[in-house]
Amino acid sequence: MDYKRIALTKSIHAQVIGQENGWYKIRLANNRTGWVASWLLNDKTNPKASSLAEATIVIDPGHGGSDSGAEYKNSTKKYYMEKTYTLSLAKKVAKDLQAKGARVIMTRNTDRYVGLSPRPKLAESSHANAFISFHFDSSPSANEGTGVTTYYYHTGASKRLASAVNKQFDNLPLRNNGIDFGDFLVIRNNTQPAILCEMGYINTTKDFRQIRRAGYQARVAKDVTTGLENYFKEVQK
Ligand SMILES: [Zn+2]
Repeated sequence: MDYKRIALTKSIHAQVIGQENGWYKIRLANNRTGWVASWLLNDKTNPKASSLAEATIVIDPGHGGSDSGAEYKNSTKKYYMEKTYTLSLAKKVAKDLQAKGARVIMTRNTDRYVGLSPRPKLAESSHANAFISFHFDSSPSANEGTGVTTYYYHTGASKRLASAVNKQFDNLPLRNNGIDFGDFLVIRNNTQPAILCEMGYINTTKDFRQIRRAGYQARVAKDVTTGLENYFKEVQK
């Protein structure tokens, strides 16, 4: 078997004999084994993940806390806030990715305020292989827009990531509006491959019926996971 070799220090090398949640299981020259965190290694020889199991993914549920985002208002004037659904969707995505062995970092886990600039910074400091932000669109008047759109800012890896993930959205009950350039801070000020997914129009009744459904969110989570798997396969080529 051909094991990958990594450098722990300039003089100490180890063989990678397994990997899980971003950790490498290693064997040293004296035959002892142990675990090291892949994201702490300055592994210039292999900076790219070639599978989800060795990837670090930052998941960014849009808005939070005092920033509630866009909203849906029904006939009884009850408000449904974007921040609620970005968080529940992001949690489902994180769970699916973790089940595939990925290391997942969330920019928020609860309904709390997080500014815009710390989000891409987290992607950089954790050496994320991908950053995915989740939002729901909103049109100036209700029921004007529909469908999902995947945005990238930087061409290259981010655009490839957008294509790979967006391709999977064809099976959703909402129209797939494809990929597009989007000037959003969280993907513009990002050093890592980064995309922003608008997963339906929250102020369109037809779209909101899906957005709030656990079944819809589960299907999006599966699509994102498959899209990422395909993206890392392409990176390996
Ligand atoms: Zn938003």
